[in-house]
Amino acid sequence: MNGQNRDSRREGRQNQPREAQKNTNQPNFDPKPAPQPTRPAPDCPICGKPVTDLFSAIAYKENSEPAHFECIVKWLTDAEKLAEDEKLVYLGGGVFGVVPANFVQGQKLAVKRMIQYENKEKKPDWRKELSSRYASR
Ligand SMILES: [Zn+2]
Repeated sequence: MNGQNRDSRREGRQNQPREAQKNTNQPNFDPKPAPQPTRPAPDCPICGKPVTDLFSAIAYKENSEPAHFECIVKWLTDAEKLAEDEKLVYLGGGVFGVVPANFVQGQKLAVKRMIQYENKEKKPDWRKELSSRYASR
């Protein structure tokens, strides 16, 4: 299809050189310029859906790919065999805390145990990109 279109256009230009000249003066205008993201939304390694909000994403342990925060919480809840009356909160720096289900934000002493989820030594590239982009502002 594309090849055919190109061929017919080339023919047209040869026959009407003046019109071709006019065309070159016109800027290549895209009717609906899509905002170009720095990189396409990566797929979550757990649920397979794109992770559009990298700020709330957590680096998946296996390959450091960004995963949905909720997906990691769900995964950790299973992996850490949380009790019915326990839940996970994000403490920051890739660390989750196991707290009582009735935990209220700010009760630091309520954290029963901490789970270092993200690899502290190995910052994923997508996270580095985010921090450098915002540090320069
Ligand atoms: Zn997910």
